[in-house]
Amino acid sequence: MTLDNKFDEYYEKNFYQGGTTCCPGCGGPLLWRMILEALGPNTIVYGDGPCAMCAIRNIKLPTFSIHFSFIADGSTGILAALRAKGRQDITVISSGGDGATGDISLGKVSAAAERNENMIQICVDNEAYMNTGIQKSGLTPFGAWTTTTPTGKENNKKEIPMIIAAHRVPYVATASISYPRDLKAKIEKAKGIKGFKYIHTVIPCPTGWRFDPAKSVEVTRLGVDTWAWPLFEIEQGTLKISAKPEQKPITEYLSTQGRFRQMKPEHVEYLQKEIDSKRISLLESNGRKLFL
Ligand code: SF4
Repeated sequence: MTLDNKFDEYYEKNFYQGGTTCCPGCGGPLLWRMILEALGPNTIVYGDGPCAMCAIRNIKLPTFSIHFSFIADGSTGILAALRAKGRQDITVISSGGDGATGDISLGKVSAAAERNENMIQICVDNEAYMNTGIQKSGLTPFGAWTTTTPTGKENNKKEIPMIIAAHRVPYVATASISYPRDLKAKIEKAKGIKGFKYIHTVIPCPTGWRFDPAKSVEVTRLGVDTWAWPLFEIEQGTLKISAKPEQKPITEYLSTQGRFRQMKPEHVEYLQKEIDSKRISLLESNGRKLFL
């Protein structure tokens, strides 16, 4: 079999077709390919917004593309319809970007978590409102340039995974496309758990983060390896760290992206301290029950 045939066969079997309208190097299509490989054909995807939509419109399974103010409530309706039809064999994914999940629809995601709806809520976090012109969101990291934070964001990124975990849902995890086995294992695990599952992934956005699209996976891996984006899961209230890479200085991550170019040394020092403190807190909590 030639290499070309192998690719053809892969795309034939995969539930995600090539040729998206996303920017080169966007992490969205890669993420969806991995998610759908883990979930299989009996899946319905409900998701938001132009950036996320350009990634989900290539899914070869039933999808609903909706406005980012409706995250989690439409998927609640889909679950109700499936219950009425007696279908228990279908996994419902509700997806939203960082602006939808962490800002605009946070109340709706919170309400679905409180009701313990049987869905997998995925946050596709590119750390700004990329689809409307790279404005900052609540999940933009400290120090990052956006068109509404021209001198760098002055506040920290919201801790949405911990906020959702505090709803005492059965499963919360952070994941990264640069750790694909871990990501797929978490999606598979979420599929087998009944109730509300939340998976938060930071995806690389070369356009908004200002880096060479060829380096998408490399940049994203540095996010994990500096502990700026730690990988963990909280299952039935117990925290478990999924990867403990030897910590690299945050400067290695910041220097890969133009959005951090204006940061002053004191800002970098502050960010490093924040990351160190979170790392220590996670390591101390590893294996412990955070929520009953
Ligand atoms: S702007 Fe960013 S998130 Fe949106 S499609 Fe382009 S690379 Fe992907």
